[in-house]
Amino acid sequence: MAKETTHQKSDRLKKLIAILHKTYPNARVELNYSNPLELLVATILSAQCTDKRVNVVTASLFKKYRSAADYANADLAELEQEIKSTGFYRNKARTLKALGQQLIARHGGSVPNSMDELTKLPGVGRKTANVLLGNAFGINAGIVVDTHVTRLARRLGLTTQKDAEKIEQDLMQLVPQRLWTDFAHWLIWHGRRRCTARKPDCENCEVKQLCPRIGVKTEAHADVSAKVHVRSARRR
Ligand code: SF4
Repeated sequence: MAKETTHQKSDRLKKLIAILHKTYPNARVELNYSNPLELLVATILSAQCTDKRVNVVTASLFKKYRSAADYANADLAELEQEIKSTGFYRNKARTLKALGQQLIARHGGSVPNSMDELTKLPGVGRKTANVLLGNAFGINAGIVVDTHVTRLARRLGLTTQKDAEKIEQDLMQLVPQRLWTDFAHWLIWHGRRRCTARKPDCENCEVKQLCPRIGVKTEAHADVSAKVHVRSARRR
């Protein structure tokens, strides 16, 4: 297949954005929160855990821990038990306590709204900072690159990179800044609902006409591979 020109890629992206927007008009963060601190805590808890499980845990957690001071003064063993089912609970509890302490010491107990300040906080990398800025503060400072965005951006031929920050740079070059937060939501929603890691549903995919399916094995390809494998096994 001939290499796609920049013009062709930008044209394809425009169509892709239009379809994803239409398909997921209400795409948003699937973590429950009512203020920046709650979103920050929920995002930290969501590492290696489903949003659904985090929402179960935070339903009671957020009633007890309402401020940065509540986390700063938390009894560590108690906090560990309260968040245990999200996994890696010892690390996460230590991070939340340190986070509360840092928010009080440096930001008067509030969550800052800049990339620079956010990424200096315990447990906050660029991805978490992007989640906060885009969703709690309405600032398009970057594009959230999680496992879904990584997989989709590569399958859709929008990047060949594997490193999250390089993928983010590629996407920021292609997508208009005002859509950075939405674009991540669309890819995450599409990744969860249609283009899953193990079984992408290409046949029913809304963007199949625009997707080169990079790295996706088609059924025919998988069948051929299986036959080749059986044939060579028989020869051994
Ligand atoms: S066509 Fe397949 S690989 Fe491409 S986005 Fe859709 S489900 Fe994913």
